[in-house]
Amino acid sequence: MARYTGPVCKLCRREGQKLFLKATKCYTEKCPIERRNFPPGQHGQAQARRRKMSGYALRLREKQKVKRMYGLHEKQFRNLFGQAAQQSGVTGENLLVGLETRLDNIIFRLGFAGSRAQARQLVRHRHVLVNGRIVDVPSYELAPGDEIAVAPGSKDLAVIQGSLESRTRAEPVDWLVVDDKNRVGRMVRRPARQDIPLAVQEQLIVELYSK
Ligand code: SF4
Repeated sequence: MARYTGPVCKLCRREGQKLFLKATKCYTEKCPIERRNFPPGQHGQAQARRRKMSGYALRLREKQKVKRMYGLHEKQFRNLFGQAAQQSGVTGENLLVGLETRLDNIIFRLGFAGSRAQARQLVRHRHVLVNGRIVDVPSYELAPGDEIAVAPGSKDLAVIQGSLESRTRAEPVDWLVVDDKNRVGRMVRRPARQDIPLAVQEQLIVELYSK
């Protein structure tokens, strides 16, 4: 299935909250959610007024929200859920940790990119090294101790410079350390649920897929 290339702000409006899918606009008052916080489309406002969701719809929307935040396809998301379910511990938390430790997300969290989509492009275009070797797979899973760096020839890319300097930098997390000047970061430990700054109810996703 092809990646969604339509207007991403509509996805936020559909979910009724900011998903931070753009590199700069999300942090400004130009964000459409600030002015039009109702679903897109001709009947969006009416829908918002009479919206009373069924249990299934609630669970579906929670799953769609997380999937869209991280920019995954349904199949990728489902596979990740399958892996999370096989691990010991709480499945919902395992799922979020699996999403957080993807290379594209970590590039975003380190502040080298303004959005996960931008981070994915940096990885795909071979601007990123993991432990000294180019990795061009955005879903690559990182482990504690891994060093993530911008490739030597790419350190001055405007997109990286701009992201580090601007307000678009993602909320800093203490399981990652970053050296802005040298464009290097390290994962110091695996995140726990309380380290992941996401207002989502992952249990609803588990319930949706467990039916
Ligand atoms: Fe979502 Fe960002 Fe668009 Fe706002 S500007 S609606 S947060 S993608």
